[in-house]
Amino acid sequence: MRLVATIEDINPATGQTIGAVPDMDDAQVRQAVQRARAAFRVWGRLEFPERREQLLRVRDYMLDRTDAVVARICEETGKTRFEAMFTEVFVTADLIDFYARHGEKALRPQRVNTGPLRLTKRPYKVYEPLGVVAVISPWNYPFALTMSPLVSALFAGNTVVLKPSEVTPLVGVLVGELFSKGCDHRDIVQVVTGGGGAGNALVGGGVQKVCFTGSVNTGKKVMAQAAETLTPVTLELGGKDPMIVLDDADVERAANGAVWGAFSNEGQTCISIERAYVEADVYDEFVDKVVAKTRTIRQSNDGDIGSMTFPPQLETVERHLADAVEKGARIVVGGRRRADLGDMWFEPTVLVDVNHSMDVMREETFGPVLPIMKVSDETEALRLANDSPYGLSSSVWTTSDDRGRRVAGQLEAGNVCVNDCLVDYGISGLPFGGVKNSGLGRTHGIEGLTDMCRVKAVVEDRFGLKRELHWFPVSAGRYGLLERIIKLLYRRGTGNKLRALLRG
Ligand code: NAD
Repeated sequence: MRLVATIEDINPATGQTIGAVPDMDDAQVRQAVQRARAAFRVWGRLEFPERREQLLRVRDYMLDRTDAVVARICEETGKTRFEAMFTEVFVTADLIDFYARHGEKALRPQRVNTGPLRLTKRPYKVYEPLGVVAVISPWNYPFALTMSPLVSALFAGNTVVLKPSEVTPLVGVLVGELFSKGCDHRDIVQVVTGGGGAGNALVGGGVQKVCFTGSVNTGKKVMAQAAETLTPVTLELGGKDPMIVLDDADVERAANGAVWGAFSNEGQTCISIERAYVEADVYDEFVDKVVAKTRTIRQSNDGDIGSMTFPPQLETVERHLADAVEKGARIVVGGRRRADLGDMWFEPTVLVDVNHSMDVMREETFGPVLPIMKVSDETEALRLANDSPYGLSSSVWTTSDDRGRRVAGQLEAGNVCVNDCLVDYGISGLPFGGVKNSGLGRTHGIEGLTDMCRVKAVVEDRFGLKRELHWFPVSAGRYGLLERIIKLLYRRGTGNKLRALLRG
């Protein structure tokens, strides 16, 4: 008899064991890749409308079971039911809608009409699926962050092997069931469970692309391993998102946004507001409002925020708070565990008198902590906001469109919200992703779909002449003729007119 290693699954809100999954070995991961490859031979050849029909059926199947999906997510993460319905189910349903409506046009062959050669040639681009895509996902939004790369890959014609986080494996298993039971192509999504070892085996398992969402350190390992086989990667990594509040901001809205952006999902969001920079004139008013609103947050499964999910993350929160306090910061509200609620509950916490010598302003905290720093002006706010190895999302709060756009243009981040926060992920048509250490590639939007394809360039000859002018033999005088043509075409003046004529 072969003993199978298992991973125990715990409900963080209650501390109770809710199940166990196998910690799969390399051979099991390879088998999953083979099954996905076999499914690709059929799925990859379907026309877009046929794939769309199947994926819409999966969405209907999910929508018929939202309570069960939400329950499973809450059980493994400790988040609230509203949080799960809004940020996991709604976001997923909308992304499927976006690709169902816009995917066919985006993936259609596209004519390319440039250059004089187009007079005798027909050049165009074709988007082809890659094959089997590995999706490796984290625990903080175990459903949405799994479904997002997964449905993009499937709409583009790939099949998927999913490796969910070992902290939330049963949500991954449920995702697999949605596809195996919800459509006719039961093998298009394979799920492998396990920890880093299973993820490692999957990256090296002969897949054609890796979509990884998780920490910077693991992302770098994944990229290094993928480099050995030149496998393309999309990396959605950590963040330290800044919020800039300018002196003309609607302070009431900014404070409401700050509290939601920093504390929803207990701050365990890659695009959480992790630090706020507030212009001096509105600093006191902003802090007072944020503190008052933070005191009203209800912590319970059906309240505003739930428990934290992953025990080591709670330790990071406490480490960052201790470091900040030791260096002179003040906790104005929160700062303690809620032992009365369970081991993984932590109060939403606001810190002031902070500076960039503190870990809480430099490293990802990924918990319910909002440090607020007073700044003298917009320039200082921007300098501090950009003083970070991360660049995922960001926000600026002002009543001036001009100032909002100017600051948005100077923030070093993949995404910026003006007078809002976190909502950038919920707009399915916008590409999402980071700069600097926050990652590579984009999910969502048309870019998230075409990133799942290889673009093939095709040129068809139009006239079937026996010989092209530039083919052998190179006759005397050909060089001079070519030189004259190039000058005629590309010199400004005559060239512009001639090219316009050729373009029709
Ligand atoms: P993690 O890096 O610890 O794990 C992510 C996944 O990688 C898990 O499934 C894990 O099992 C797997 N893994 C571990 N070692 C591996 C290896 N060597 N090869 C392949 N896979 C391996 O991250 P986490 O703690 O689950 O997630 C939290 C982090 O994710 C935070 O830093 C957060 O900011 C980031 N995150 C980013 C985004 C984004 O879109 N940019 C979204 C959510 C979370």
